[in-house]
Amino acid sequence: MNPIIIAIDGYSSTGKSTLAKALASVLGYTYIDSGAMYRAVTLYALRCGYVNDSVVKVDQLVTKLPEINISFVLAEDSNSEICLNGEKVESEIRGMEVSNCVSQVSAIPQVREMLVAQQQLMGKKKAVVMDGRDIGSVVFPNAELKLFMTASEDIRAQRRYNELIAKGSEVSIEEVKVNLSKRDYIDSHRDTAPLIQTNDAIVLDNSHLSQKEQLHWVLEKAKQISSSLG
Ligand code: C5P
Repeated sequence: MNPIIIAIDGYSSTGKSTLAKALASVLGYTYIDSGAMYRAVTLYALRCGYVNDSVVKVDQLVTKLPEINISFVLAEDSNSEICLNGEKVESEIRGMEVSNCVSQVSAIPQVREMLVAQQQLMGKKKAVVMDGRDIGSVVFPNAELKLFMTASEDIRAQRRYNELIAKGSEVSIEEVKVNLSKRDYIDSHRDTAPLIQTNDAIVLDNSHLSQKEQLHWVLEKAKQISSSLG
């Protein structure tokens, strides 16, 4: 099978990463969680005291960008874990503190420029599944397969709430709902690389689809596209 790039975009908590991980595992591709990279930069900004009440000190963060090193290491469960300047920060980046200001940090053009360049390098040899908000529109506009995932707001909030509770977080479903809708709003309305559904993306509404059904559906598409490449 010819290696392809699979770009998965969509609103928060639409199950992008679950599908992307499963696809990468079946196809033997590399999965890249671009959201984790934005979350890691946000954690850095929080630790440096560059965020106050969700307001980011943009100039200070931008001068420090060359000091931020983001990498992925293979974890025991064969998933990859994100590192910020060599430190594993996978669980820290998933908490509400980061979630509450990640969209503000992600709207900064210089942050995007730095991370997009790294993401494009990771996809140079293809055989990559990457999920995020601008993967099909900016990072890999020529990706062979683009998906735009969506699901009802209630279902998305319930999914994220369940994930957070399972990790021991003390959060309410209302707090999760507010966070998701705020992030979706900022992500879709920012000036640089807003979340959009590109014309060539296939829409996947998974409100009522099981993970198995979604995987099967996308695998068929990926195989068709790959074999049509000769
Ligand atoms: O995917 P996840 O929900 O972890 O992403 C966290 C945030 O990172 C998003 O709400 C968005 O602000 C930002 N993001 C982005 N572009 C991407 C991936 C994520 O702006 N490609």
